[in-house]
Amino acid sequence: MEQPRSNSFKFFSLGGSNEVGRSSHMLQYKNKTVMLDAGVHPAYQGYASLPFYDEFDLSKVDILLISHFHVDHAASLPYVMQKTNFQGRVFMTHPTKAIYRWLLRDFVRVTSIGNSATGKDENLYTDEDLAESFDRIETIDYHSTVDVGGIKFTAYHAGHVLGAAMFQIEIAGLRVLFTGDYSRELDRHLNSAEVPPFPSDVLIVESTFGTATHEPRINRERKLTQLIHSTVTKGGRVLLPVFALGRAQELMLILDEYWSQHAEELGSGQVPIYYASNLARKCMSVFQTYVNMMNDNIRRKFRDSQTNPFVFKNISYLKNIDEFQDFGPSVMLASPGMLQNGLSREILERWCPEDKNLVLITGYSVEGTMAKFLMLEPDTIPSINNPEITVPRRCQIEEISFAAHVDFQENLEFIEKISAPNIVLVHGESNPMGRLKSALLSNFASLKGTDQEVHVYNPRNCVEVNLEFKGIKVAK
Ligand SMILES: [Zn+2]
Repeated sequence: MEQPRSNSFKFFSLGGSNEVGRSSHMLQYKNKTVMLDAGVHPAYQGYASLPFYDEFDLSKVDILLISHFHVDHAASLPYVMQKTNFQGRVFMTHPTKAIYRWLLRDFVRVTSIGNSATGKDENLYTDEDLAESFDRIETIDYHSTVDVGGIKFTAYHAGHVLGAAMFQIEIAGLRVLFTGDYSRELDRHLNSAEVPPFPSDVLIVESTFGTATHEPRINRERKLTQLIHSTVTKGGRVLLPVFALGRAQELMLILDEYWSQHAEELGSGQVPIYYASNLARKCMSVFQTYVNMMNDNIRRKFRDSQTNPFVFKNISYLKNIDEFQDFGPSVMLASPGMLQNGLSREILERWCPEDKNLVLITGYSVEGTMAKFLMLEPDTIPSINNPEITVPRRCQIEEISFAAHVDFQENLEFIEKISAPNIVLVHGESNPMGRLKSALLSNFASLKGTDQEVHVYNPRNCVEVNLEFKGIKVAK
């Protein structure tokens, strides 16, 4: 690819544009190259799940910033670091790095199990690659600025999950803000996304929910607890497919509190809650360690009670299904979140033939995954171990979002506060992203033709957005 001209800024994605999954975006300005995120696509396996890394010479990348630990943002990082000609430096926050290690280990394990079933060896990387990459990852504190050869970048709170960051990048006076995945709603444990003190010339922002509106949080919490309560009262089992870490802990805070409030009916093991993940204990210890990076509410609770809020009274850990005694109603939080394989899929196939059981989807379900398919309420689902065998699906399917992405109003409010003249939309399926673009353009229509005109781009993967910047002041 040709060198960028002196004042031209170039953006393009190798993945995660007009889709949710395999996020990987490139910025080029003044001969510097920044890469944002290195994810996989949860609906695909092996090499097909990667961003289009062949389309770009990765040896040109100076720095790679990882916004958070979710697989669609971080799971191809060991591949990039160990299997390509990438030579740049990699940065993430401390909690992201701590969780990244355990999470990707699980990812390696789960994906290699999936492959042995098909007889194909398509592992992207091994445990050893993961360990080697881990040692070369550098960490950054929130609100601190790092300078790598003239590329300055600062991490800000993004909400969403523990450790998630927005990055503001500054090259020769030009400022770009990358939101990663973010949330603005007050959470039980996280700091919500903040507006950086310095303005941005370019905003790269997620568009997951397009122009949709979330119900207020208090309603969603009430719906969640009531639905679960009524299901277990009728003797049903509840499966909550969750990503091992992140939003699962928020759900556990809600359920543990509710169980304590209804102890006479539900407590003392009458209706057990399980958190099933072979990462369960390790993950919880990370959460227990980083309480100081969470919001005031949870830190106050920690101080006042002198007990760690992530030491749950009503939730027990299950490492695998063999130690699970499946008698009577129970609530099971199991990973992975989109039921692609692993524990949650195994439990789904066991429980879905029974009509009094409930599968409750709380995360964002990517196109092409079992979680997305289930929402169509199919009569049968294919078994993971043998796709020719089908399992009848009679259980109830419900969706209540706790995905911690902004909705339209929250996104618009934040975008207005940033007031960047150039907005690049990423991380959204084509339709919601297109609707968001139209809504933003009509929102900013009064500025059209003035010097404050707002430009909105929704490029596809590998399509460049070129912007000319004249007269950018170099901050000294
Ligand atoms: Zn995420």
